[in-house]
Amino acid sequence: LLAPDGSTRPTIFAEMSALAAATGAINLGQGFPDEDGPAVVLEAARAAISDGVNQYPPGRGSVELRLAVAEHQQRFYRLALDPEQEILITAGATEALAATLLALVDGPDDEVVVFEPHYDSYAACIALAGARLVPVPLRWPLFQPDLDELRRAVTDRTRVILVNDPHNPTGSMFSAEVRAEIVRLAERHDAIIVTDEVYEHLAFDRPHVPIAGAEGARGRTISISSGGKTFSTTGWKIGWATGPAPLIEAVVAVKQYLTYSGGAPFQPAIAVGLRLPDEAFAAITASYRAKRDLLGEGLRTAGFDVSTPDGSYFTVVDAAPLGATDADAFCRELPARAGVAAIPLTAFVTPTHRADYATLVRFAACKREDVLSEATSRLSVLR
Ligand code: PMP
Ligand code: GLN
Repeated sequence: LLAPDGSTRPTIFAEMSALAAATGAINLGQGFPDEDGPAVVLEAARAAISDGVNQYPPGRGSVELRLAVAEHQQRFYRLALDPEQEILITAGATEALAATLLALVDGPDDEVVVFEPHYDSYAACIALAGARLVPVPLRWPLFQPDLDELRRAVTDRTRVILVNDPHNPTGSMFSAEVRAEIVRLAERHDAIIVTDEVYEHLAFDRPHVPIAGAEGARGRTISISSGGKTFSTTGWKIGWATGPAPLIEAVVAVKQYLTYSGGAPFQPAIAVGLRLPDEAFAAITASYRAKRDLLGEGLRTAGFDVSTPDGSYFTVVDAAPLGATDADAFCRELPARAGVAAIPLTAFVTPTHRADYATLVRFAACKREDVLSEATSRLSVLR
């Protein structure tokens, strides 16, 4: 019983990508870029393959990449990490999340507080660990949690508070007040904070601030990210988990039996990416900011109500002004009606909460600007 609705069918991303392919629709559903990232990163992978970096890397990841992650965390967030003990390289953020949750929670007495809507693998991993997911809703249009609801959700049964900032699917970024409350609650109830920060460099209006940097958070936080979004290499699946040595050791204990290690030539290539100069990161952020603005403008013109995202690959709209009453049905018909694919937000919520998200739809902005323009002009047939 892995999907939020208890089914074993393919993920909504696979399903909508297949529908887009079958109908020839522009795929603004599954979030993956349609252009390559920095050429030096791609070249570094080619060079590594030619240089024979093709066998198992060390279980904790190549030394070079762990050093590069440490340098990156120091440069952007002033976080000092020991590459020997406090950094683990994984098969994408997905494996880091799975190994972390399997390592930290066990059985129905353990609760994981999750902000909802949430990325689909969270519920699946919590189910695999046999633990209980306790949702805290993020509501249209700002998608910030209500602090009282958050306080009620965190109890002594809470093992993990799982944070995704910047957030998929809503694009929200948590306020300083929300981050501080998460840390306070974790301290009070002795919970561990796990953060999914894969969109850390897609923060458009203010810099991303990792919770691990907050007073009191460092010793109880596992931070997770990956190279997929930042460097447009989602198919490489190189991610990492960072945190205090004993917590990382527990994650290693699980990870070694999931994949042991992987992606040998891609690891030094992502290290090259993480060492790019500040201007290269600023250019990546600026390019996605421009895509966000273009997509938002086009969706508004097409007649949707738009929640402008602070970060991430995504923009959430309300399709009710265009007559939609059920986002799932709307997204299933959209490729045939308008030649565009998108994802219903109901795919990211506990089935009993679907009504609160009934008319909300997620569009991916990680496409070429001409593709985004063509997609939104196609959507104007819905008016
Ligand atoms: N977390 C979130 C919030 C994501 O959007 C994604 C990518 N879709 C992942 C994790 C997975 O990252 P990776 O591809 O590095 O496994
Ligand atoms: N992260 C991507 C998204 O949210 C999809 C990843 C996947 O297909 N599992 O669209």
